Amino acid sequence: MKKYILAIDAGTTSSRAIIFDKNGQEIAIAQHEFEQHFPKEGWVEHDPLEIWSSQKKAIEDVLSKNNIQASEIDSIGITNQRETTVIWNKKTGIPIYNAIVWQDRRTANICSDLDQKGYAQTIQNKTGLVLDAYFSGTKIQWILNQNIETRKKAEAGELLFGTIDTWLIWKLSNGKYHVTDPSNASRTMLYNIHTLEWDNELLELINVPKKILPNVISSSQKIGVVQLESWDDEIMISGIAGDQQAALFGQLCFGPGEVKNTYGTGCFCVMNTGNSPVQSKNKMLTTIAWQLDGETTYALEGSVFIGGALIQWLRDGLNLISSAEEIEELAKSVESNGGVTFISALTGLGAPYWDPNAFGAIMGITRGTQKGHLARAALEAIAMRSREIIIEMQKDAGIQYQDLKVDGGACKNNLLMQIQADLLNTTVIRPKTTETTALGVAFLAGLASGFWKNRKELESLWEKEREFVPNKNIQSQNTISLWQERISKIITNES
Ligand code: ADP
Repeated sequence: MKKYILAIDAGTTSSRAIIFDKNGQEIAIAQHEFEQHFPKEGWVEHDPLEIWSSQKKAIEDVLSKNNIQASEIDSIGITNQRETTVIWNKKTGIPIYNAIVWQDRRTANICSDLDQKGYAQTIQNKTGLVLDAYFSGTKIQWILNQNIETRKKAEAGELLFGTIDTWLIWKLSNGKYHVTDPSNASRTMLYNIHTLEWDNELLELINVPKKILPNVISSSQKIGVVQLESWDDEIMISGIAGDQQAALFGQLCFGPGEVKNTYGTGCFCVMNTGNSPVQSKNKMLTTIAWQLDGETTYALEGSVFIGGALIQWLRDGLNLISSAEEIEELAKSVESNGGVTFISALTGLGAPYWDPNAFGAIMGITRGTQKGHLARAALEAIAMRSREIIIEMQKDAGIQYQDLKVDGGACKNNLLMQIQADLLNTTVIRPKTTETTALGVAFLAGLASGFWKNRKELESLWEKEREFVPNKNIQSQNTISLWQERISKIITNES
């Protein structure tokens, strides 16, 4: 009996395997961390073989420790840290270099060179991305440029490139499938999101041979079966999506204007914009959300660098609290922010300001200011920055959002969620399953295999845990005006 879906969630710091049942309930989870390598300032690497071995172990553990047989698993979905780049030898399966992680800045000079040559606009028009070292393209170029032999091998088709989804599927299938999906391909800076193809002009500009690139298939389709030695049966792989896009699907944001915000270290906001890509006026990213049933769905993506990290700073930098959870009680000890505004620009400001030199500030302090006011102002800062991103996205897309679905570690904070609802004047919905990323790719896999019939069926499974309705008696406009007036004082490049 096929009772379960196995979701593989290949994150930046750990490999996870999660089992969901037919009701979309999480049944079991296993997780293994892997090492982060920082060989130089601004460089971040992973060992691709360690990613594979930790992922394999997580898959084996989640089955064996919960007495689940491979024959009970209907299909596998894979979601992953995006942009991270692996290149390996097609014959031996050995990576020729460590994986260069999305956070890695070593190719910033390649990007400024492309910028100086005037290619930023072409790249943005074709890929929806802002020219940046974050994406895979220049990371591939860097690895291939390490020596002439490597480049020759790539051009001869002896090497393969993949993001982590591609790498894991290749390993799981013993080299049979070399594939990715459009949500991952759209983060490489090599994929044209309009024609839905690897773009020859971009490949030339970024100097990447087409031969090494994976086949781009749908996010939800039967790819083929795989079998690990310990399994009693083979399992079909039928879903792939990058982590943020998988979370959007797992939050059932299926239609234009539906939006999710993940409150982690930073905040990651993604809005479904429907069947056509929307070009942002605020350097927000245009990306492919998923491709399903022959239809491509696009999204706008914006992030706030400092989200839950602000609470970490209050804990570790100021010792104001001893755990992140304490912030809620402390903030509740006062009725309001007491006139305090906390500008959370601890690492500059992203969209819509794009001011890397902006600095953080706490303004409006008086002799009456208490710790609680700081705590409340900090929660307001997280919600205000998320509000700014969502409002800009709405302007870009010309679509009115309905409500906001939330996930991530800091969404457990009820006061933060209420503040978010008040400041956006929209209902905030927190789901029962907090593993929305894994659930999203489980849904994509299960739709392709027929485990679930259609999206309507998924809607009947999805449960909200709590809803935060905007409180009409709260004077949010004062908080917003004060924030806007004060943030303008710290902007260094106001244009
Ligand atoms: P990531 O995936 O980025 O590591 P998580 O989703 O695990 O992040 O969330 C952790 C972040 O959430 C931390 O920055 C932490 O400070 C913050 N956080 C956790 N619990 C709370 C809380 N109750 N209130 C506010 N922030 C919280």
